[in-house]
Amino acid sequence: YAAKESVHHTVQFYLDHVHQRVDAFRLEHDLQAALEKEEFVLEYQPRITVADGKVTGVEALVRWEHPERGRISPLEFIPIAEETGYILPLSSWIMEEAFSQWSKWKEDGMELQMAVNLSVRQIEEEQFIDRVEALLGKYQVPPASIEFEITESVLMYHLETSLQAVRELRRIGCRVALDDFGTGYSSLNYLKTIPADVVKIDRSFMKEIPDNAQDTAIVETIIRLASVLNMDVIAEGVETDRMLSFLKEQHCFGAQGYYISRPVPPQDIPELTQSTGQELPQETL
Ligand code: C2E
Ligand code: MG
Ligand code: MG
Ligand code: MG
Repeated sequence: YAAKESVHHTVQFYLDHVHQRVDAFRLEHDLQAALEKEEFVLEYQPRITVADGKVTGVEALVRWEHPERGRISPLEFIPIAEETGYILPLSSWIMEEAFSQWSKWKEDGMELQMAVNLSVRQIEEEQFIDRVEALLGKYQVPPASIEFEITESVLMYHLETSLQAVRELRRIGCRVALDDFGTGYSSLNYLKTIPADVVKIDRSFMKEIPDNAQDTAIVETIIRLASVLNMDVIAEGVETDRMLSFLKEQHCFGAQGYYISRPVPPQDIPELTQSTGQELPQETL
């Protein structure tokens, strides 16, 4: 009986594995058609300048509305898109959509800083900068209004390519942010050599702020370091008023997180740019 049970477990384990592979394969297959079927949407997460509590920018975040599976997280499909190369057409669509949204807001009298996440496959492409310039022209977006986010790990593993992309992006007048800062290694060294405009403190450091002394010290240090290196610093994952108060005490430049707002569809942004400041508890502002 025990042997039978064990065979059963082995078979079940094998079947689970097969199912997982089939799922990944299906996702990969569905991904190929998703752009054409217009299943992607962008949401925008507001971020504030800590000093006055005003929404001055948004980060564009891609979502996949799968017809059967519902909404799929970018954490699940971006890696598959990167493996298959599908990230290239997808990223072009994302940039186009974000820039076009920027100019719609501009027509409505809002000039927001727009952050767009970059994939390593994108910056490896030779035509990357030309494409960015062409799209900026097409939608009449001032380059300084766009902030491209590159993660610290992409920078670490693709240093030469990234450095070149960062330089070129800044040469054409765009801003560059170091995303998920603190999660890689040799952070301090990279911070000195990368000519970025913004550092985004990874939300893993924020989780226990201000209760965890170590995390508190780390965040304080990144804020001070950024100031010495003349970079703006934005804290991610701000989920409570206590976190925001801490950031204000530390003179952190910007903040982004669920306490301020979740990522929302573009039509919700105008109201958020007007109401924040009153909405947030006054003692934190
Ligand atoms: P990221 O660039 O670090 O984006 C921030 C992520 O943190 C978003 O998750 C956002 O919804 C989430 N977040 C924001 N505030 C809070 C908070 O207070 N608490 C918590 N727990 N989470 C918060 P999302 O949208 O699932 O995106 C995950 C990652 O997927 C992004 O991390 C980025 O690396 C990637 N990604 C998203 N959109 C794009 C895109 O358009 N292109 C590329 N290449 N990557 C993207
Ligand atoms: Mg980002
Ligand atoms: Mg991040
Ligand atoms: Mg992240």
